[in-house]
Amino acid sequence: MRYPDEIVEEVRARNDIVEVISSYVHLQKKGSNYFGICPFHNEKTASFSVSPQKQIYYCFGCGKGGNVFRFVQDYENYTFTEALKLLAQRAGVKLPEIKYSEEAKKAQDLRSQLLKVNTEAAKFYYYQLRSDAGQAAMEYLKNRGLSEETIGRFGLGFARTGQDLLYRYLKKQGFQDELLKQCGIFHFDEKRGVTDKFWSRVIFPIMDVNHRVIGFGGRIMGTGEPKYLNSPETPVFDKGRNLYGLNLARTARKNNLILCEGYMDVISMHQAGFNQAVASLGTALTSGQASLLKRYTEDVLLSYDSDGAGTKAAIRASQILREAGLRARVIDLNPYKDPDEFIKGEGAEEFQKRIDNAENSFYFEIRMLERDFDLSDPQGKTGFAEETAKKLLRFEEQIERDNYVEAIAQKYRMNVDSLQKLVSKFAMQKERITYREPVKSGIHEKKADDRDGAAQRMLLAWFAEQPEVYETVRTYLSVDDFSEGVYRQTAELLFKQLEKGKPDPAAITTCFESEEEQQTVAKIFQTPLPQDQSGPEKERTLKELLINVRTQSIQKKMYDGSGGTDELTQMIALKKETEQINRLIFHFS
Ligand SMILES: [Zn+2]
Repeated sequence: MRYPDEIVEEVRARNDIVEVISSYVHLQKKGSNYFGICPFHNEKTASFSVSPQKQIYYCFGCGKGGNVFRFVQDYENYTFTEALKLLAQRAGVKLPEIKYSEEAKKAQDLRSQLLKVNTEAAKFYYYQLRSDAGQAAMEYLKNRGLSEETIGRFGLGFARTGQDLLYRYLKKQGFQDELLKQCGIFHFDEKRGVTDKFWSRVIFPIMDVNHRVIGFGGRIMGTGEPKYLNSPETPVFDKGRNLYGLNLARTARKNNLILCEGYMDVISMHQAGFNQAVASLGTALTSGQASLLKRYTEDVLLSYDSDGAGTKAAIRASQILREAGLRARVIDLNPYKDPDEFIKGEGAEEFQKRIDNAENSFYFEIRMLERDFDLSDPQGKTGFAEETAKKLLRFEEQIERDNYVEAIAQKYRMNVDSLQKLVSKFAMQKERITYREPVKSGIHEKKADDRDGAAQRMLLAWFAEQPEVYETVRTYLSVDDFSEGVYRQTAELLFKQLEKGKPDPAAITTCFESEEEQQTVAKIFQTPLPQDQSGPEKERTLKELLINVRTQSIQKKMYDGSGGTDELTQMIALKKETEQINRLIFHFS
């Protein structure tokens, strides 16, 4: 399924990247670029750049980049076609009807096929719950206090006992084994054949923010192990970047989001009117999920179980939330175990009061820490002060740290200066012993490119920004001088544009299909050029880059023997060329 290039280009041209991204990210103009806080990784200082001239974006922090299509794909978790449709609609471009040929069907990408399988499976479970076979399960849910409306809103279903009921159903629908193997809800075994993953369990379809079914959770009714079973990660199910219930919570129009531990918590909270509740997906909260939350709110309330494990998880989660720049508060559920029980026991109004009185997550953490020490004993008090000081180190901003030092000292009747000194002492030690670990946010960490790459990137970025430079140097440079792969292809496309007229980096980005390639193209074109240099300094830099790229290219040819003539001849030629380049004159102001 592919739309004609002209249409794709028209849609792109009519969606100004700054306008589109501004509707998701707050941008500020700085020089010729716009900057904002990156929506793809956790950061406090803006390293996410958007170029109105080049119509591309690039994050200097995590390396995400591309044109307007790639942004919508990444932000909304869309395929290219979905992003194209959204942007076409936004700009009022009518897309031509695409006829589904037999071939096109096959070519349709795996993701949309998997989503289709998931939708069919969800439907199957949905009807099973409402059939005779599902009566006990339906009863179970109602006994847990769920109304029919709630059961429907969350699309709950039931997998009854049976070796391969779902498998046979999906086969009948025409899905192939090749595909079914990848959706994570079957076991393929050579001896025993194919079996369904979920048996006699209540099924919770897991949806992304766009209400598409991406995975499943299954809960056993009554007792049994494991209590919850989740489908594994697949090309459409990234557990670290999705949250249960967010598809509904994102439109809740509350000024906070409530994070709970389990699916049942989310569902009963929604039913009680707290439709801003979400949960992580059978794993501890990840920083990717924290970034996701940050798109919708600044304020997250933790409603975790009040037992030891829940407390620990809440402390860990609140640290991740704070690192992501979110305000985290903890809801006190005592004397109940979880929000579900609390609401059943005390009602929604009482729960709202607990929300209003939720405790700053750092105070919560210190209060939990306090339990481990006997504060009536001087030694216990010292130990508590020390551990508290270590935790205070987490606040990187001095003003924030000082405020907490003061507040905690007052709360626990410690001497402010002593606590402050303790913090400073540990800060010094920390400086000596450990480096700050780079933030890991589930983003593929790009290996820093080699030096060759750096010169090539800057040269290409320079051409895109100042085409007249290309005019001057074109006789010395060919596309073969650029590293094979994305760099060379980018050079080739850019040179063609430059020969014809105006460079257009965003159009070049569209020529690459994979996310990684698009990121590399964005990285190339957003390479910062020397800003504060004088004309002669710029000229020097440019010549150095050119000689650098040519030298690498020739050395590489010598190394792999593709240069043709012998080494000495090439060395002499290179020397002569270097002299020529050094004599070039650019007219930088
Ligand atoms: Zn980033």
